[in-house]
Amino acid sequence: MQEKEMDFEERDAGMKVAEEQDTVIVGGGICGLATALALHRKGIKSVVLEKSETLRTTGVGIIMQPNGWRALDQLGVASKLRETAMDISSRQLIMVDDGKRLELPLGKGELRCLKRLDLVEVLAEPLPVNTVHFGCKVLSIVLDPVTSYPVLQLHDGSIIRAKIVIGCDGVNSVISKFLGMNPPKLFSRCATRGFTWYERGHDFSGVFRIHKTDNVQLGQLPVTDKLVYWFLTRSLTPQDSNASKKDPAYTKEASMEAMKGFPHETVEMIKNSEDKSLYLTELRYLPPWELLRAKFRLGTVVVAGDAMHAMCPFISQGGGASLEDAVVLARCLSEKIKIKMQTSRQEQKMMLEKALDLYVRERRMRLFWLSLQTYLIGMTLDNTSKVKKVLGIVSLILIFRDQRSHTDYDCGRL
Ligand SMILES: Cc1cc2nc3c(=O)[nH]c(=O)nc-3n(C[C@H](O)[C@H](O)[C@H](O)COP(=O)(O)OP(=O)(O)OC[C@H]3O[C@@H](n4cnc5c(N)ncnc54)[C@H](O)[C@@H]3O)c2cc1C
Repeated sequence: MQEKEMDFEERDAGMKVAEEQDTVIVGGGICGLATALALHRKGIKSVVLEKSETLRTTGVGIIMQPNGWRALDQLGVASKLRETAMDISSRQLIMVDDGKRLELPLGKGELRCLKRLDLVEVLAEPLPVNTVHFGCKVLSIVLDPVTSYPVLQLHDGSIIRAKIVIGCDGVNSVISKFLGMNPPKLFSRCATRGFTWYERGHDFSGVFRIHKTDNVQLGQLPVTDKLVYWFLTRSLTPQDSNASKKDPAYTKEASMEAMKGFPHETVEMIKNSEDKSLYLTELRYLPPWELLRAKFRLGTVVVAGDAMHAMCPFISQGGGASLEDAVVLARCLSEKIKIKMQTSRQEQKMMLEKALDLYVRERRMRLFWLSLQTYLIGMTLDNTSKVKKVLGIVSLILIFRDQRSHTDYDCGRL
């Protein structure tokens, strides 16, 4: 024991003194905060390292389907969130060219569109003071050659030694790179999202509509009786990659340009959207087969959320799946951490690794099926190849007879 402490001092010579923590979560987005909350509910202390200076989100609205609500119920925050967003009882797919209406393969049960900021605030609120450390960017992670526990290096030169590191640092994750996972691929389409405020109320009550042409999909759904969330996906152009993603004029103009032939009220909705709510996002994804073979754990380092399973948003499940990750991970860890006191250091580490393996095993196939369905829908939307399009349609019909069954999943009790 004494020898190890001397080792630490020698290695850290010339650097800031290393801080020691039991459980460190990298990234304070939806997944990082949900994981911290799930652990807190199970009596496990954690710290969240978030590179931004405040709670922030990319994108304004998020669709939450029944599986996501089950996870939010387990986290004890669902009822509070229900007060912030209206229930959406009907879903329609409208073909713009001929006006044909079909039922959308989304959400068999409870479906609401949340403001992302409401979601992260509600997840962060019950956490003990100082759980989230803002302005902390993790630059790298290694395993200590003596203890095999992870060591994080931060942008300000400080070092954190942890027993467990959970990488919830999104699509460009430092932690998944450390685990040897391939970086997510760029998809051929992009998404624009925004909010439109209707001072005198809107007419979309309780209905989630997707207006669709061969090239463009526009989704619109109410958040409250005055606020509507919309998203538009279309082919990515070189101008999109060059344009500043924060330029609302470009984002709005390019969306309206893509909406030739769309109903007048939908074009007005985009035109009247709030500039500060607009986001243009290049879509990134991990192919489903990567999820089958990826190593999600190394030692006591593991990933969750987009860092584990980046997927395009075609079935609106990335966030819901991240909440499920949080519940399952906290449940698996709490089962093993209970016996911590009776065991040696080495045994403790093995127990933690077993708990993380349990989590990975429970999540892998769920994530694979979500990712496969999203990938196949992506093929049907990809206009670069007709063969791919047909293959996507046929595979979807054969593999996913019930295209809404992804919302039936129950991540179980916390
Ligand atoms: C266009 C679009 C629409 C979507 N719509 C839906 C939807 O309707 N429903 C749904 O369920 N999902 C949806 N998703 C998916 C959903 O947004 C993501 O799955 C979810 O946000 C993932 O959360 P996360 O916490 O894993 O990652 P993020 O939200 O990306 O959070 C990662 C956090 O880590 C921080 N971070 C990154 N690197 C570091 C570092 N090195 N050090 C410290 N901190 C770091 C970041 O600042 C950030 O706060 C959509 C995605 C897109 C792109």
